[in-house]
Amino acid sequence: MNKVSKSPWLLHYDASSCNGCDIEVLDCLTPKYDIERFGIINTGDPFQADILLITGGVNSQTESVVKQIYSQMPEPKVVVAVGICACTGGVFKECYNIRGGIDTVIPVDVYVPGCAARPESIIDGVVKALEILDEKQAEHKKNGGGAHGISK
Ligand code: SF4
Repeated sequence: MNKVSKSPWLLHYDASSCNGCDIEVLDCLTPKYDIERFGIINTGDPFQADILLITGGVNSQTESVVKQIYSQMPEPKVVVAVGICACTGGVFKECYNIRGGIDTVIPVDVYVPGCAARPESIIDGVVKALEILDEKQAEHKKNGGGAHGISK
């Protein structure tokens, strides 16, 4: 059971998806799936985000953006790759400008396969991310790290 004490803030970025997975991510925010019932807040601000949800593989245009977003997020942080493109490059893997999955440029904690990833799988991935965030926060605290999200 997740013991994260503050509402985790989640940032969604489309690294080069066909938008199929992004529509499923949006579906998670609707009353039907209601991902916010886990206390999650959707944000557009990487400086406040705990969880980075990425769809699509990394291409030559988005590589620097993915790295920048990741570097702007405070520690501890968790990355979730949503859809097979984000996991491995998927059907676009052989394209001339595709680097591959998200883990070719930043560390990924949770992989959610599927084309498109279903809302139930995305929610499972986010719940797993909450558990990992909880572990990372405990480790961060043990190592003398400051309270995360103090400005929230
Ligand atoms: S996994 Fe499928 S639906 Fe998702 S971005 Fe790739 S091609 Fe589109």
